[in-house]
Amino acid sequence: MNISISLSSAACKPLVNFQPALTTTESLLFQHHQKQRKDKVVVIMGATGTGKSKLAIDLATHFPPAEIVNSDKMQVYKGLDITTNKVTEEECRGVPHHLLSIVANPNYNFTANDFCHHASLAIDSIVDRDGLPIIAGGSNSFIDALVNHDSTFRLRYECCFLWVDVSLPVLHSSLSARVDRMIEAGQINEIREFFDHSISDYTRGVRRAIGVPEFDEFLREEARGGDERIKKKLLEVAIAMTKVNNCKLANRQVQKIHHLYKIWKKNMHRLNATESVFNKSAWEDDVAAKGRRIVQKFLYD
Ligand code: ATP
Repeated sequence: MNISISLSSAACKPLVNFQPALTTTESLLFQHHQKQRKDKVVVIMGATGTGKSKLAIDLATHFPPAEIVNSDKMQVYKGLDITTNKVTEEECRGVPHHLLSIVANPNYNFTANDFCHHASLAIDSIVDRDGLPIIAGGSNSFIDALVNHDSTFRLRYECCFLWVDVSLPVLHSSLSARVDRMIEAGQINEIREFFDHSISDYTRGVRRAIGVPEFDEFLREEARGGDERIKKKLLEVAIAMTKVNNCKLANRQVQKIHHLYKIWKKNMHRLNATESVFNKSAWEDDVAAKGRRIVQKFLYD
């Protein structure tokens, strides 16, 4: 008798239903095996101004081919590069970056769902190229949505979380100095070019970026051709508010990271970058080398 065996997926499907129930040990082994087969993703978290982008680029150059996926909700918009602290081409050192400057409409609210969609596409494509995806950015609600709430991502990927931490009092003074450097680098002109006097709603899109609402009054006064003394005062207030709001953002981000740390403790590693704020050479030992060792272990052990 001739028996023809069909290898079509329809013919194979019923076999799944005849799998015997797994014992607890088998089930644990199965889960372990599945975990082993998951692709790996490195996630770099931390408050604004702690050095996440720098660490991401450093790790990418040490574990090639690696590519970076931005998870900062303001850096996804085109423009305002100084204001939102985007990495420069020189700083990227040839490492491909995804989700940077991808939204042209400044009024569009790029949501956590949008992030999950675009980040998943980028991560899948990096893995298809046999590369290591490194997610880096300060929007913890985006990372939370992808890692904790996107079941497709959770099933396919295993994450190692690196938390770049700088003690808050030290971070506050470093953020204040960073605002001064941004002003020197041309931030006021960047915001002036973006400014639209017919819009006073700063609750949407990239207009929420710290630095944009803060300069509104100064730019209106300037557009009116106002008094020099008033303009000077308004400029001082705008810069001071930008500094204060950056510090408030850092406080909120650290709070959220502490919350996520409770969930991911096992896979989350804190790198203390406080010393490196005063002493640039401490970065290599305290953050970069430590980060490389953790990623090495995560990828190959
Ligand atoms: P939240 O739920 O509070 O929006 P989140 O973790 O999703 O938190 P954050 O990255 O903490 O998002 O951003 C919160 C706010 O901080 C933004 O709406 C924006 O005002 C400001 N902000 C965040 N990143 C930047 C940036 N790169 N440049 C300027 N402002 C920023």
